[in-house]
Amino acid sequence: MSKINLNIAATLRQPAELVAHGLAPAADLPELEKVAARYAVAVTADIAALIDPGDPDDPIARQFIPSAEELVTQPGESADPIGDHAHSPIAGIVHRYPDRVLFKLVHVCAVYCRFCFRREMVGPGKATALSHAAYQNALDYIRAHSEVWEVILTGGDPLMLSPRRLAEIMADLAAIDHVRIIRIHTRVPVADPARISAEMIAALKVKGATTWVALHANHVRELTDSARAACADMIEAGIPMVSQSVLLRGVNDNAAALEALMRAFVECRIKPYYLHHGDLAPGTAHLRTTLAHGQELMRVLRGRVSGLCQPDYVLDIPGGHGKAPVGPSYLSQANSANSLSQEREQHAEIRYLIVDYCGDVHLYPPKP
Ligand code: SF4
Repeated sequence: MSKINLNIAATLRQPAELVAHGLAPAADLPELEKVAARYAVAVTADIAALIDPGDPDDPIARQFIPSAEELVTQPGESADPIGDHAHSPIAGIVHRYPDRVLFKLVHVCAVYCRFCFRREMVGPGKATALSHAAYQNALDYIRAHSEVWEVILTGGDPLMLSPRRLAEIMADLAAIDHVRIIRIHTRVPVADPARISAEMIAALKVKGATTWVALHANHVRELTDSARAACADMIEAGIPMVSQSVLLRGVNDNAAALEALMRAFVECRIKPYYLHHGDLAPGTAHLRTTLAHGQELMRVLRGRVSGLCQPDYVLDIPGGHGKAPVGPSYLSQANSANSLSQEREQHAEIRYLIVDYCGDVHLYPPKP
């Protein structure tokens, strides 16, 4: 579809502004005010320009324009759906896996996604950033844990920090011998690509550690020329990039949308990394698909596009138990020899059924 130029200069934060720009119906205003009182709203000019106000099913609007459906919290939904708190030994740090920590520096974002898994922790009214003392304590924690090989800057969106502050943080982390990788999770290159300035890119590069950037985008239309240029500037500066997307009903829950998104990432030199199943964040049921539908989409994707374009479809297990790949599985046991030893398996007494990309089933090893 063509780009709609709404000629919006500033980030829209109030439901009344969304109505005034034709991005939400006036009749919905009272309900949207209630949503905005609970969950942050922000739509940057770049994102607003992508929304077709005449399309009630616009996949960009669905991600960023609040909806009265957010006022309904379903059973099982939780303020901390992936269990950050259970693994937070100290403010700002989540230490869920042995070799890496999340370092949550800021609690603000350029845009606020309606499905955000940290929607109870980010936005105006929450603490906007770690205090100086909390930052120093978090650094001390990382220094004291020599098993931490990778630090993932997340939040909020770390690229909301100034280049000067980011450079200080990167230098502090890179000065810790055992920290070899600094990964930055961000939506800024699509939400506000002008922030990816030469100063920002210089701040991301640091001696003593390798920087990776993980871009969050969910629909191919987010990868505008400006967004692609911002990513190219980072990649050409030597910063490798991976993608993260969330499987969202009405946004990318069909094979054509996913295929276009994954192909676009690869064309931009961004390796598709994760396709997240929607987390059980409050008021987000209308944006989640079923796991069965997600598996079917992954099956179709594997049949249609290059291996370079295949993300891992993952679920963050509620309670803080980490990510698990959720298939689909292509392998099942053909016989009931569950208890056969590895030695007997090697003698081909266990056979498997394996599904090819067309859906045809084969025996492995084949019968002699
Ligand atoms: S950018 Fe990330 S942290 Fe910020 S609102 Fe979107 S999903 Fe949440």
